[in-house]
Amino acid sequence: MACNCRKSAANDPVFTKRPDQPCVFCAHKHIAAAKALYDLESGYRSINKSNAIGQLILAAWHYNLNHHHLAMRCRDIWLEMEKLHDVSSALSSLQNAAWQLVLRENNSGMITSGNAESEDSGTNS
Ligand SMILES: [Zn+2]
Repeated sequence: MACNCRKSAANDPVFTKRPDQPCVFCAHKHIAAAKALYDLESGYRSINKSNAIGQLILAAWHYNLNHHHLAMRCRDIWLEMEKLHDVSSALSSLQNAAWQLVLRENNSGMITSGNAESEDSGTNS
């Protein structure tokens, strides 16, 4: 369910990622970016709202195959943005749902994968 977005380019020189590849990590990043851009918008240029819509479209692509309902939520929000409606709380709850998927994916990764040595951090021995 994750693309190879969490591998560094050094580890994976043939690293390729398509924007429509299912990935809850990429989707969360795009939603977080959309939220940041949307929040910035108040008092700033409305082009940020347009950029936020672009981020939501990218998130929807990453969700479409495996989390279609979340892709639809992204779409609902960008359609509301286009109408200049306030989507602040809808965006917040979408970001929370996206984060829950990231947490769940991390937990399942700890159970099923044995390559923790490359990414483990925060410990001093
Ligand atoms: Zn990814």
